[in-house]
Amino acid sequence: MSKESKKEETVREIISVKNLYKLYRVGDSVVRALDGVSFSVYEGEFCAIVGTSGSGKSTLAKRMFEHFDGIEFSVSCTTRAMRAGEVHGKDYHFISQEQFREHIANGDFVEFATVHGNSYGTLKSEVISRVESGIDVLLDIDVQGAIQIKKL
Ligand code: 5GP
Repeated sequence: MSKESKKEETVREIISVKNLYKLYRVGDSVVRALDGVSFSVYEGEFCAIVGTSGSGKSTLAKRMFEHFDGIEFSVSCTTRAMRAGEVHGKDYHFISQEQFREHIANGDFVEFATVHGNSYGTLKSEVISRVESGIDVLLDIDVQGAIQIKKL
């Protein structure tokens, strides 16, 4: 057996989705949106849940936390106002524009972006040490942020 195939065998599969499909109703007919989608995500791979605001990314992420161990959520910073039911430090670090600018100046962010007029950013402290100790970290970020992370 080659060294390469031996390595493949020991890499942990952390997410496995088989034959995913989605049906939705339009009037009297049923439309098949997804059909037989299967994929796996292995340890150490970048994995993004991409979608427009309100498309259900956070719901999907919450389901993942219920079903998979070893994945932790990266709590982002935001300058937007806290919504009812949100918890500071759990949903977001709710900070002022000035604090946000300080984080940028100090180089504290892995990525940051403006979404709907508010600033959002992922702190290095939320991600780097966990990834280095083998914990998978899930980021709920928009497409601008995903592009910045892909370039790292
Ligand atoms: P909301 O304010 O509704 O929680 O999130 C609005 C949008 O900002 C969502 O698309 C969400 O994925 C994105 N977002 C949340 N945190 C971050 C972040 O740290 N960086 C970036 N680039 N986008 C984020």
